[in-house]
Amino acid sequence: MSSLEISALCKRYGPAVALDGVSLTAGQGELVSLLGPSGCGKTTALRCIAGFIDPDDGDIRANGVSILATPSSKRDFGVVFQNYALFPHLNVAENVGYGLLFRKGSKAERERRVREVLEQVQLVGLEHRLPRELSGGQQQRVALARALVIQPRLLLLDEPLANLDARLRDDVRWLIRDVQQASRTTAFYVTHDQAEAMAISDKIAVMKNGKVAQFASPREIYQRPAERYVASFTGEANFLAAEVERALGGGLFRVRAGGATLDVRGAGPFAGSAVLLARPESLAIVTDGTGQLEGRVVKSVFLGAVQHCEVVLRDGASVRLGTPPDRPLPADGTVSVRLDVDRTWLMPDAVP
Ligand code: ATP
Repeated sequence: MSSLEISALCKRYGPAVALDGVSLTAGQGELVSLLGPSGCGKTTALRCIAGFIDPDDGDIRANGVSILATPSSKRDFGVVFQNYALFPHLNVAENVGYGLLFRKGSKAERERRVREVLEQVQLVGLEHRLPRELSGGQQQRVALARALVIQPRLLLLDEPLANLDARLRDDVRWLIRDVQQASRTTAFYVTHDQAEAMAISDKIAVMKNGKVAQFASPREIYQRPAERYVASFTGEANFLAAEVERALGGGLFRVRAGGATLDVRGAGPFAGSAVLLARPESLAIVTDGTGQLEGRVVKSVFLGAVQHCEVVLRDGASVRLGTPPDRPLPADGTVSVRLDVDRTWLMPDAVP
Protein backbone atom coordinates (compact mmCIF):
# COMPACT_ATOMS: atom_id res chain seq x y z
CA MET A 1 0.00 0.00 0.00
CA SER A 2 1.18 3.49 -0.80
CA SER A 3 0.72 6.96 0.40
CA LEU A 4 0.21 9.30 -2.51
CA GLU A 5 1.22 12.92 -2.78
CA ILE A 6 0.11 15.19 -5.59
CA SER A 7 1.83 18.54 -5.83
CA ALA A 8 1.01 21.55 -7.99
CA LEU A 9 -0.51 19.43 -10.74
CA CYS A 10 -1.43 21.33 -13.91
CA LYS A 11 -3.11 20.15 -17.09
CA ARG A 12 -4.30 22.23 -20.02
CA TYR A 13 -6.29 21.20 -23.08
CA GLY A 14 -5.56 24.01 -25.52
CA PRO A 15 -6.97 27.14 -23.89
CA ALA A 16 -8.97 25.12 -21.31
CA VAL A 17 -7.28 24.72 -17.93
CA ALA A 18 -8.44 21.40 -16.47
CA LEU A 19 -6.05 21.36 -13.47
CA ASP A 20 -4.58 24.55 -12.08
CA GLY A 21 -2.10 23.68 -9.34
CA VAL A 22 -3.78 20.79 -7.52
CA SER A 23 -2.01 19.58 -4.38
CA LEU A 24 -3.27 16.88 -2.01
CA THR A 25 -2.09 13.87 -0.08
CA ALA A 26 -3.60 10.50 0.77
CA GLY A 27 -1.99 8.72 3.71
CA GLN A 28 -1.63 4.94 3.68
CA GLY A 29 -5.05 3.29 3.82
CA GLU A 30 -6.96 6.56 3.47
CA LEU A 31 -9.82 7.17 1.09
CA VAL A 32 -9.72 10.63 -0.47
CA SER A 33 -12.66 11.93 -2.50
CA LEU A 34 -12.42 14.46 -5.29
CA LEU A 35 -15.75 16.27 -5.12
CA GLY A 36 -17.05 18.98 -7.41
CA PRO A 37 -19.44 19.87 -10.24
CA SER A 38 -19.06 18.69 -13.81
CA GLY A 39 -15.96 20.10 -15.51
CA CYS A 40 -14.02 21.03 -12.35
CA GLY A 41 -11.18 18.63 -13.17
CA LYS A 42 -11.90 15.57 -10.99
CA THR A 43 -11.56 12.98 -13.73
CA THR A 44 -8.50 14.68 -15.19
CA ALA A 45 -6.79 14.46 -11.79
CA LEU A 46 -7.69 10.77 -11.46
CA ARG A 47 -6.46 10.05 -14.98
CA CYS A 48 -3.14 11.72 -14.21
CA ILE A 49 -2.78 9.53 -11.11
CA ALA A 50 -3.66 6.41 -13.13
CA GLY A 51 -1.12 7.38 -15.79
CA PHE A 52 -3.70 7.52 -18.61
CA ILE A 53 -2.68 11.13 -19.29
CA ASP A 54 0.46 13.12 -18.47
CA PRO A 55 0.22 16.37 -16.50
CA ASP A 56 1.88 19.47 -17.97
CA ASP A 57 3.38 20.39 -14.64
CA GLY A 58 3.65 19.21 -11.04
CA ASP A 59 4.47 15.83 -9.57
CA ILE A 60 2.79 12.67 -8.27
CA ARG A 61 4.72 10.64 -5.69
CA ALA A 62 3.91 7.23 -4.22
CA ASN A 63 5.70 6.62 -0.93
CA GLY A 64 7.84 9.64 -1.72
CA VAL A 65 8.96 8.48 -5.18
CA SER A 66 7.78 10.18 -8.38
CA ILE A 67 5.69 7.88 -10.57
CA LEU A 68 5.36 10.21 -13.57
CA ALA A 69 7.89 8.23 -15.61
CA THR A 70 6.24 4.89 -14.73
CA PRO A 71 3.81 3.70 -17.41
CA SER A 72 0.22 3.14 -16.36
CA SER A 73 0.48 -0.66 -16.63
CA LYS A 74 3.45 -0.71 -14.23
CA ARG A 75 1.92 1.48 -11.52
CA ASP A 76 0.08 -1.42 -9.87
CA PHE A 77 -3.08 0.61 -9.45
CA GLY A 78 -6.60 -0.82 -9.57
CA VAL A 79 -9.17 1.27 -11.44
CA VAL A 80 -12.98 1.10 -11.23
CA PHE A 81 -14.99 3.03 -13.82
CA GLN A 82 -18.55 4.28 -13.86
CA ASN A 83 -19.48 1.95 -16.73
CA TYR A 84 -17.85 -1.16 -15.14
CA ALA A 85 -15.75 -1.88 -18.30
CA LEU A 86 -15.99 -5.67 -17.87
CA PHE A 87 -14.99 -8.09 -20.64
CA PRO A 88 -18.40 -9.16 -22.01
CA HIS A 89 -17.29 -12.61 -23.22
CA LEU A 90 -15.54 -13.56 -19.93
CA ASN A 91 -17.45 -14.87 -16.95
CA VAL A 92 -17.22 -13.35 -13.46
CA ALA A 93 -14.28 -15.48 -12.29
CA GLU A 94 -12.40 -14.90 -15.56
CA ASN A 95 -13.01 -11.15 -15.43
CA VAL A 96 -11.75 -11.00 -11.86
CA GLY A 97 -8.77 -13.29 -12.52
CA TYR A 98 -7.72 -11.48 -15.70
CA GLY A 99 -5.24 -9.15 -14.00
CA LEU A 100 -3.48 -12.12 -12.39
CA LEU A 101 -2.70 -13.85 -15.70
CA PHE A 102 0.27 -11.56 -16.27
CA ARG A 103 1.72 -12.02 -12.81
CA LYS A 104 3.68 -14.69 -11.03
CA GLY A 105 1.78 -17.51 -9.37
CA SER A 106 0.29 -20.91 -10.17
CA LYS A 107 -3.22 -21.55 -11.46
CA ALA A 108 -4.23 -22.83 -8.01
CA GLU A 109 -2.94 -19.65 -6.36
CA ARG A 110 -4.82 -17.51 -8.88
CA GLU A 111 -8.03 -19.43 -8.22
CA ARG A 112 -7.61 -19.07 -4.48
CA ARG A 113 -7.08 -15.33 -4.78
CA VAL A 114 -10.11 -14.91 -7.07
CA ARG A 115 -12.26 -16.80 -4.60
CA GLU A 116 -10.97 -14.68 -1.73
CA VAL A 117 -11.88 -11.43 -3.50
CA LEU A 118 -15.26 -12.74 -4.66
CA GLU A 119 -16.00 -13.50 -1.03
CA GLN A 120 -15.03 -9.96 -0.06
CA VAL A 121 -17.45 -8.46 -2.57
CA GLN A 122 -20.13 -11.08 -1.83
CA LEU A 123 -20.30 -12.65 -5.27
CA VAL A 124 -19.61 -16.30 -4.42
CA GLY A 125 -21.95 -18.51 -6.46
CA LEU A 126 -21.98 -16.22 -9.49
CA GLU A 127 -18.51 -17.20 -10.79
CA HIS A 128 -19.80 -18.63 -14.07
CA ARG A 129 -22.21 -15.87 -15.04
CA LEU A 130 -21.44 -13.52 -17.91
CA PRO A 131 -21.61 -9.75 -17.23
CA ARG A 132 -24.89 -9.44 -19.18
CA GLU A 133 -26.46 -11.97 -16.78
CA LEU A 134 -25.76 -9.70 -13.80
CA SER A 135 -27.51 -6.65 -12.31
CA GLY A 136 -25.76 -3.27 -12.38
CA GLY A 137 -24.80 -3.58 -8.71
CA GLN A 138 -23.34 -7.04 -9.27
CA GLN A 139 -21.41 -5.86 -12.31
CA GLN A 140 -19.91 -3.03 -10.30
CA ARG A 141 -18.91 -5.48 -7.58
CA VAL A 142 -17.15 -7.59 -10.24
CA ALA A 143 -15.33 -4.45 -11.38
CA LEU A 144 -14.32 -3.74 -7.79
CA ALA A 145 -13.12 -7.33 -7.32
CA ARG A 146 -11.13 -7.12 -10.53
CA ALA A 147 -9.42 -3.95 -9.34
CA LEU A 148 -8.66 -5.44 -5.91
CA VAL A 149 -7.49 -8.88 -6.99
CA ILE A 150 -3.98 -7.67 -7.79
CA GLN A 151 -3.70 -6.13 -4.29
CA PRO A 152 -3.14 -2.71 -5.86
CA ARG A 153 -0.91 -0.08 -4.30
CA LEU A 154 -3.75 2.33 -4.94
CA LEU A 155 -7.43 1.99 -5.79
CA LEU A 156 -8.91 4.60 -8.14
CA LEU A 157 -12.68 4.90 -8.46
CA ASP A 158 -14.34 7.20 -11.00
CA GLU A 159 -18.03 7.78 -10.14
CA PRO A 160 -18.47 4.05 -9.44
CA LEU A 161 -22.09 4.41 -8.31
CA ALA A 162 -23.33 6.73 -11.04
CA ASN A 163 -25.16 4.03 -13.01
CA LEU A 164 -26.87 2.42 -10.02
CA ASP A 165 -30.29 3.24 -8.61
CA ALA A 166 -30.54 5.03 -5.27
CA ARG A 167 -31.02 1.99 -3.01
CA LEU A 168 -28.26 -0.05 -4.61
CA ARG A 169 -25.98 2.94 -4.49
CA ASP A 170 -26.02 2.87 -0.69
CA ASP A 171 -25.30 -0.87 -0.55
CA VAL A 172 -22.40 -0.73 -3.00
CA ARG A 173 -21.01 2.37 -1.31
CA TRP A 174 -20.93 0.56 2.07
CA LEU A 175 -19.30 -2.41 0.43
CA ILE A 176 -16.60 -0.31 -1.25
CA ARG A 177 -15.80 1.36 2.05
CA ASP A 178 -15.77 -1.94 4.00
CA VAL A 179 -13.53 -3.67 1.50
CA GLN A 180 -11.22 -0.67 1.17
CA GLN A 181 -10.81 -0.43 4.93
CA ALA A 182 -10.44 -4.18 5.47
CA SER A 183 -7.72 -4.38 2.80
CA ARG A 184 -6.24 -1.05 4.00
CA THR A 185 -5.93 0.07 0.40
CA THR A 186 -5.26 3.75 -0.24
CA ALA A 187 -7.99 5.04 -2.54
CA PHE A 188 -9.06 8.06 -4.61
CA TYR A 189 -12.76 8.40 -5.31
CA VAL A 190 -14.27 10.80 -7.84
CA THR A 191 -17.85 11.95 -7.30
CA HIS A 192 -20.11 14.95 -7.77
CA ASP A 193 -22.43 13.71 -5.00
CA GLN A 194 -21.71 15.41 -1.66
CA ALA A 195 -23.60 12.86 0.45
CA GLU A 196 -21.59 10.05 -1.13
CA ALA A 197 -18.31 11.88 -0.51
CA MET A 198 -19.27 12.61 3.11
CA ALA A 199 -20.21 9.01 3.81
CA ILE A 200 -17.21 7.29 2.31
CA SER A 201 -14.19 9.55 2.76
CA ASP A 202 -11.44 10.13 5.26
CA LYS A 203 -10.72 13.39 3.46
CA ILE A 204 -12.49 15.37 0.75
CA ALA A 205 -10.93 17.69 -1.81
CA VAL A 206 -13.67 20.08 -2.93
CA MET A 207 -12.68 21.20 -6.41
CA LYS A 208 -13.57 24.39 -8.24
CA ASN A 209 -12.37 25.32 -11.73
CA GLY A 210 -9.33 23.05 -11.66
CA LYS A 211 -8.28 24.11 -8.16
CA VAL A 212 -8.77 22.63 -4.71
CA ALA A 213 -11.08 24.97 -2.80
CA GLN A 214 -10.65 23.00 0.43
CA PHE A 215 -9.01 19.73 1.44
CA ALA A 216 -10.08 18.41 4.84
CA SER A 217 -12.14 15.80 6.68
CA PRO A 218 -15.88 15.54 5.88
CA ARG A 219 -16.69 17.05 9.28
CA GLU A 220 -14.36 20.01 8.79
CA ILE A 221 -15.64 20.63 5.27
CA TYR A 222 -19.26 20.59 6.43
CA GLN A 223 -18.90 22.50 9.69
CA ARG A 224 -16.04 24.87 8.89
CA PRO A 225 -16.07 25.45 5.14
CA ALA A 226 -13.35 27.73 3.81
CA GLU A 227 -15.75 29.60 1.56
CA ARG A 228 -19.34 29.89 0.45
CA TYR A 229 -18.79 27.63 -2.58
CA VAL A 230 -17.65 24.78 -0.33
CA ALA A 231 -20.56 25.31 2.07
CA SER A 232 -23.17 25.22 -0.67
CA PHE A 233 -21.61 22.22 -2.36
CA THR A 234 -21.59 20.12 0.80
CA GLY A 235 -25.18 20.39 1.99
CA GLU A 236 -28.16 22.67 2.59
CA ALA A 237 -26.89 26.10 3.54
CA ASN A 238 -28.35 29.46 4.59
CA PHE A 239 -26.08 32.43 4.09
CA LEU A 240 -26.60 35.71 5.95
CA ALA A 241 -24.78 38.91 5.08
CA ALA A 242 -22.87 39.83 8.25
CA GLU A 243 -21.12 42.99 9.42
CA VAL A 244 -18.31 42.07 11.78
CA GLU A 245 -18.23 44.40 14.80
CA ARG A 246 -15.30 42.85 16.64
CA ALA A 247 -13.40 39.69 17.50
CA LEU A 248 -14.26 38.38 20.96
CA GLY A 249 -11.35 35.93 21.16
CA GLY A 250 -11.55 32.14 21.32
CA GLY A 251 -12.81 31.96 17.72
CA LEU A 252 -15.91 34.05 18.46
CA PHE A 253 -16.97 37.18 16.56
CA ARG A 254 -19.71 39.69 17.28
CA VAL A 255 -21.67 40.41 14.09
CA ARG A 256 -24.82 42.14 12.88
CA ALA A 257 -26.78 39.68 10.76
CA GLY A 258 -30.43 38.90 10.08
CA GLY A 259 -31.44 42.12 11.86
CA ALA A 260 -29.83 41.08 15.17
CA THR A 261 -26.52 41.18 17.02
CA LEU A 262 -25.05 37.69 17.29
CA ASP A 263 -21.88 36.10 18.66
CA VAL A 264 -20.80 33.47 16.16
CA ARG A 265 -17.89 31.17 15.38
CA GLY A 266 -15.32 31.68 12.64
CA ALA A 267 -11.62 31.48 11.86
CA GLY A 268 -10.97 35.12 10.98
CA PRO A 269 -9.41 37.55 10.76
CA PHE A 270 -12.36 39.51 9.40
CA ALA A 271 -12.71 43.16 8.64
CA GLY A 272 -16.08 44.68 7.76
CA SER A 273 -18.39 42.40 5.88
CA ALA A 274 -18.46 38.60 5.94
CA VAL A 275 -20.89 35.75 5.26
CA LEU A 276 -22.52 33.80 8.07
CA LEU A 277 -23.30 30.15 7.39
CA ALA A 278 -26.29 28.76 9.27
CA ARG A 279 -27.13 25.20 8.21
CA PRO A 280 -30.89 24.47 8.54
CA GLU A 281 -30.24 22.22 11.56
CA SER A 282 -28.59 25.11 13.43
CA LEU A 283 -31.88 27.07 13.35
CA ALA A 284 -35.07 26.35 15.28
CA ILE A 285 -38.39 28.12 15.72
CA VAL A 286 -38.84 28.64 19.49
CA THR A 287 -41.51 30.00 21.80
CA ASP A 288 -39.52 30.03 25.06
CA GLY A 289 -37.90 33.44 24.63
CA THR A 290 -34.47 32.04 23.68
CA GLY A 291 -34.59 33.11 20.02
CA GLN A 292 -32.14 35.77 18.82
CA LEU A 293 -33.78 36.35 15.42
CA GLU A 294 -37.29 37.53 14.54
CA GLY A 295 -39.02 36.69 11.29
CA ARG A 296 -42.09 35.59 9.41
CA VAL A 297 -42.81 32.18 7.89
CA VAL A 298 -43.53 32.75 4.20
CA LYS A 299 -43.66 29.13 3.10
CA SER A 300 -43.99 25.73 4.75
CA VAL A 301 -43.95 22.25 3.27
CA PHE A 302 -45.00 19.09 5.10
CA LEU A 303 -42.54 16.27 4.33
CA GLY A 304 -43.69 13.57 6.75
CA ALA A 305 -40.81 13.37 9.24
CA VAL A 306 -40.21 17.11 9.15
CA GLN A 307 -41.86 20.35 8.05
CA HIS A 308 -39.64 22.67 6.01
CA CYS A 309 -40.17 26.40 6.50
CA GLU A 310 -38.85 29.46 4.78
CA VAL A 311 -38.53 32.38 7.18
CA VAL A 312 -37.87 36.00 6.17
CA LEU A 313 -35.81 37.72 8.88
CA ARG A 314 -36.00 41.35 9.96
CA ASP A 315 -33.33 42.53 7.54
CA GLY A 316 -35.08 40.82 4.62
CA ALA A 317 -32.74 37.80 4.46
CA SER A 318 -34.52 34.49 4.09
CA VAL A 319 -33.53 31.21 5.74
CA ARG A 320 -34.74 27.64 5.49
CA LEU A 321 -35.17 25.45 8.53
CA GLY A 322 -37.02 22.36 9.71
CA THR A 323 -39.66 22.10 12.42
CA PRO A 324 -41.43 19.08 13.94
CA PRO A 325 -44.30 18.20 11.56
CA ASP A 326 -46.98 18.24 14.25
CA ARG A 327 -46.16 21.68 15.65
CA PRO A 328 -48.62 24.34 14.47
CA LEU A 329 -47.18 27.60 13.13
CA PRO A 330 -48.64 30.91 14.37
CA ALA A 331 -51.54 32.19 12.24
CA ASP A 332 -49.80 35.44 11.33
CA GLY A 333 -46.50 33.61 10.62
CA THR A 334 -44.49 35.69 13.08
CA VAL A 335 -41.82 33.57 14.74
CA SER A 336 -38.76 33.76 16.92
CA VAL A 337 -35.76 31.79 15.66
CA ARG A 338 -32.91 30.46 17.76
CA LEU A 339 -29.48 30.11 16.21
CA ASP A 340 -27.19 27.48 17.73
CA VAL A 341 -23.98 29.50 17.95
CA ASP A 342 -21.75 26.44 18.10
CA ARG A 343 -23.03 25.38 14.71
CA THR A 344 -22.53 28.70 12.95
CA TRP A 345 -19.54 29.54 10.79
CA LEU A 346 -18.38 32.93 9.61
CA MET A 347 -16.61 33.01 6.24
CA PRO A 348 -14.92 35.65 4.11
CA ASP A 349 -17.45 37.19 1.70
CA ALA A 350 -15.10 37.33 -1.27
CA VAL A 351 -12.62 34.64 -2.21
CA PRO A 352 -10.12 35.18 -5.03
P1 ATP B 1 -17.39 15.37 -15.03
O1 ATP B 1 -17.97 15.20 -13.68
O2 ATP B 1 -18.36 15.98 -16.01
O3 ATP B 1 -16.68 14.18 -15.56
P2 ATP B 1 -14.85 16.50 -14.21
O4 ATP B 1 -14.86 17.33 -12.99
O5 ATP B 1 -14.39 15.11 -14.08
O6 ATP B 1 -16.28 16.55 -14.87
P3 ATP B 1 -12.85 16.78 -16.26
O7 ATP B 1 -13.41 15.66 -17.10
O8 ATP B 1 -11.62 16.51 -15.51
O9 ATP B 1 -13.97 17.30 -15.26
O10 ATP B 1 -12.66 18.04 -17.20
C1 ATP B 1 -12.07 19.26 -16.75
C2 ATP B 1 -12.03 20.26 -17.89
O11 ATP B 1 -11.14 19.80 -18.91
C3 ATP B 1 -13.38 20.47 -18.58
O12 ATP B 1 -13.50 21.81 -18.94
C4 ATP B 1 -13.27 19.59 -19.81
O13 ATP B 1 -14.09 20.09 -20.85
C5 ATP B 1 -11.82 19.66 -20.15
N1 ATP B 1 -11.34 18.42 -20.79
C6 ATP B 1 -11.28 17.20 -20.21
N2 ATP B 1 -10.77 16.28 -21.07
C7 ATP B 1 -10.51 16.94 -22.22
C8 ATP B 1 -9.96 16.55 -23.50
N3 ATP B 1 -9.57 15.30 -23.73
N4 ATP B 1 -9.85 17.52 -24.44
C9 ATP B 1 -10.22 18.79 -24.20
N5 ATP B 1 -10.72 19.23 -23.03
C10 ATP B 1 -10.87 18.31 -22.05
